[in-house]
Amino acid sequence: MKSRPSFPARLDVSMPARHPKSPVSARVVAPGTSLGTPGLAGRQAVAGGAVQDYGAARRNMVQKLVGQGLSDRMVLAAMGAVERHRFVDTALVNQAYEDTSLPIGLGQTISKPGVVSRMIELMRQGASGKLGRVLEIGTGCGYQAALLSHVATEVYSMERLRGLHDKARENLRHLRVANLHLLFGDGMLGYPKGAPYAAIIAAAGGEAIPQAWVDQLAIGGRLVAPVAGGPRGGQQALVILDKTPYGIEQKVLEAVHFVPLKSGVA
Ligand code: SAH
Repeated sequence: MKSRPSFPARLDVSMPARHPKSPVSARVVAPGTSLGTPGLAGRQAVAGGAVQDYGAARRNMVQKLVGQGLSDRMVLAAMGAVERHRFVDTALVNQAYEDTSLPIGLGQTISKPGVVSRMIELMRQGASGKLGRVLEIGTGCGYQAALLSHVATEVYSMERLRGLHDKARENLRHLRVANLHLLFGDGMLGYPKGAPYAAIIAAAGGEAIPQAWVDQLAIGGRLVAPVAGGPRGGQQALVILDKTPYGIEQKVLEAVHFVPLKSGVA
């Protein structure tokens, strides 16, 4: 078992822009791109040769997020730009823009768009521009990592399951994400080489926030994570932790359901 994550593996930006799941066209979305536009680039062939316009479904999803109160323009732009249907299995593409979590293999799930966008909005604390360096724990299929690459200058994303780390790399190949570093390793240890982080966001919940995360957070930085066993007695809740010049401030928000945070790699 590796006790340290591998070096930050920069995605090869010279990779062909064609995605294996997309026989029609592969959309190249640079970080910072605004809401997706309709047209061939937003379409994808489905069984039978029909062309499905996922751009419309995605815009609809963004409108619903606005209706739920999401207001950070950079987060909305990221939600409109990143093609969630490319991160789920072919059999699930038609559910990709519903506000639902979906299986991504190895017993893990991609979170609901509503929850992902809320967490990223909380993480940004109303910043007008991009955040600096951000650490994500739990790369999974790479969807949230792609979103983060639109709202932060540098993203380090860690995954403890080799199979999902590889899957995320494959899923992200069609994007030009030079500011995203996919790391295979135990995220409970954080990633000291990238510290201090402007924000840390966890997609898996443990019983407490690992001290390494707090240590690696910059002063003025914010951590957003699901935590179980707090005041809500065993049930997971979203926690935000702010590292201020005067100390740590923590708030417990709404109940959430995330996969468990586990130690070690597999
Ligand atoms: N953000 C992901 C969500 C994946 S689910 C997405 O967009 O798809 C959460 C992930 O956290 C799982 O893949 C799980 O394997 C991973 N995980 C759990 N404990 C971890 C740890 N200690 N370090 C890194 N990843 C971990």
